[in-house]
Amino acid sequence: MPKIDNGLAAILRALLPLVLCAAGLVGEPPMAMRTARFAVVVPGPPIGQPAEAAMDGARCSDPAGTWLGMRWRSELKWRVNERTIPAYLGDHTAVVNALRNAATNVENGRNDCGLPENLGISESYAGKTDYIAGVTPSGGCGERDGHNAVSFGPLNQGLLAVTCIWWYGEKENGRSVETDILVDDSAGLFFLTTPPSCSNRWDLEGTVTHEFGHAFGLGHVAFAQHSALTMTDGLPDCSTAYRGLGLGDYLTLKQQYGTSTKTP
Ligand SMILES: [Zn+2]
Repeated sequence: MPKIDNGLAAILRALLPLVLCAAGLVGEPPMAMRTARFAVVVPGPPIGQPAEAAMDGARCSDPAGTWLGMRWRSELKWRVNERTIPAYLGDHTAVVNALRNAATNVENGRNDCGLPENLGISESYAGKTDYIAGVTPSGGCGERDGHNAVSFGPLNQGLLAVTCIWWYGEKENGRSVETDILVDDSAGLFFLTTPPSCSNRWDLEGTVTHEFGHAFGLGHVAFAQHSALTMTDGLPDCSTAYRGLGLGDYLTLKQQYGTSTKTP
């Protein structure tokens, strides 16, 4: 039985209407393996407060952002394990499109703030894979397998999705070589389009936009102060406002990757 249906999980979700995600980090210095990860669990807005109330226009005025340290020097080519897409999400093409949109949101710096959508980031969707994300149900990182995979699978309650990053060198200025994203496969947890009477469900595209933010090196900002930004450590349920970047998300990526002359 999917954990979303068990009583405790349902109660916890009711108490903590948020996106809980984590980014795990696995570093590979030249001579020795180094492993590090962090996970966060932060409450969302108080019960009854509309998700929109948290936005208040700050999405285009809050410059906050944190940087994990490592970044991609080459194009991130990633694939989706379609076999793991939970049945409730329906048509695989629509699901893959939501995931692709999420990646493109970060690549281009999609925003509603009038900023040029020309970040110097490069990613491409490379099709299906049979590999699964190297992320454990508790949100830890497994072994690197040489494939950048987005897959669905079980995650402990409170975790909606987890991104792991593998890199060479020190964390500061490290060179990312692999990233995997695991999205919780509990029935009914995500939606592609906001359902009527939405409650305790999350926008797949917005959530995975946040995860691709991690994949490219963005860390979290605190929900209490920065809930309007995509890299907030708690995403409100039922909101599609995170399908792109806020000012701080954008500026932090731009500082690291610059801008591109590529034509979208
Ligand atoms: Zn996160």
